[in-house]
Amino acid sequence: MIPGAAREALEETLGDRVRFRFPLARCTSLRVGGPVDALATPETREEIARTLAICAAHRIPHCVIGAGFNTLALDDRFECVALQLGRLRRLEERPDGCLRVEAGVTHSQLTNFCIERGLAGLEFGCGIPGTVGGWLAMNAGIPGRELKDVVQEIEVISPTGRGVRHIPRAELRFVYRALRGLAPGSVILSALLSVTLSNTGAVRAEVDRLLAARQKTQPLNVPSCGSVFKNPPGDFAGRLVEAAGLKGRRLGGAEISAVHANFIANRGGATAADVLALIREAQAAVWQTAGKRLVPEVRVIGDKP
Ligand SMILES: Cc1cc2nc3c(=O)[nH]c(=O)nc-3n(C[C@H](O)[C@H](O)[C@H](O)COP(=O)(O)OP(=O)(O)OC[C@H]3O[C@@H](n4cnc5c(N)ncnc54)[C@H](O)[C@@H]3O)c2cc1C
Repeated sequence: MIPGAAREALEETLGDRVRFRFPLARCTSLRVGGPVDALATPETREEIARTLAICAAHRIPHCVIGAGFNTLALDDRFECVALQLGRLRRLEERPDGCLRVEAGVTHSQLTNFCIERGLAGLEFGCGIPGTVGGWLAMNAGIPGRELKDVVQEIEVISPTGRGVRHIPRAELRFVYRALRGLAPGSVILSALLSVTLSNTGAVRAEVDRLLAARQKTQPLNVPSCGSVFKNPPGDFAGRLVEAAGLKGRRLGGAEISAVHANFIANRGGATAADVLALIREAQAAVWQTAGKRLVPEVRVIGDKP
């Protein structure tokens, strides 16, 4: 529960950019999740700093949500202030061959920017839905190419909102689908991403090729969070779940996709409990049939009931 003084301070700082008891189902691509105590959508760095400072002063936990494409929000009330940086969407080309990209820039905004200017190097992200903040936190990628390949620096604000640091590439610890080493609760504000000069036709052709390949193999017309599990070394999570006989398995409103067994789709009315139950079932079945441990890629947020 947010104390009255903190609520007033949040309202004073953010005006109508803070909403209380906001359903997280509206912030996640799986369309599941209960209410969070407050959803803050700050518009400037100052508002982010003040929001974090208010949370720290009142000992209220906070979390960051990008566009929610890799997030499973639990069903029960979540005692937290969720910050969403979708209003930080500045994107500039610099003379040194880099783009300065704010955390709320979306994959489609960035892809279109690169196509228009004939900038190559980021085409791999065209079908990875989300924001640059989420891409960085997840080290998003496709086989053979990850965000870490193009990041030159990130700009991060501390969990209490007190200091901003520019962390150079050499100090960033990107691993498979994660960025390690930031203090918990840090908020990524922007990044420098390197690109190379090409031409519009070539960049568009590569984007079209990648999107067409995805259309064939992924269930893109139903709510999901993309790959639920990380691929274990030398294997594919989807192959293992399928081999365990669970492709198409349905529980409540959730379904292990019949198109790609590493996707769980919301077929209508799914709850986080349905999705979690399928995740556990798949883990147990793959452990039994193949002796491999499946580690979730999807990030779970919320208070455990
Ligand atoms: C159809 C589909 C296909 C997908 N294909 C791929 C794929 O090919 N490759 C791939 O890697 N992923 C894929 N994904 C997953 C998803 O697109 C990526 O993980 C993406 O990076 C999520 O971005 P987001 O902004 O939605 O992050 P969210 O889901 O909102 O957040 C993910 C994590 O990032 C953190 N975060 C977000 N913003 C910030 C910030 N500013 N500062 C600090 N932390 C932050 C959150 O706290 C959370 O831990 C797919 C998803 C879908 C639905």
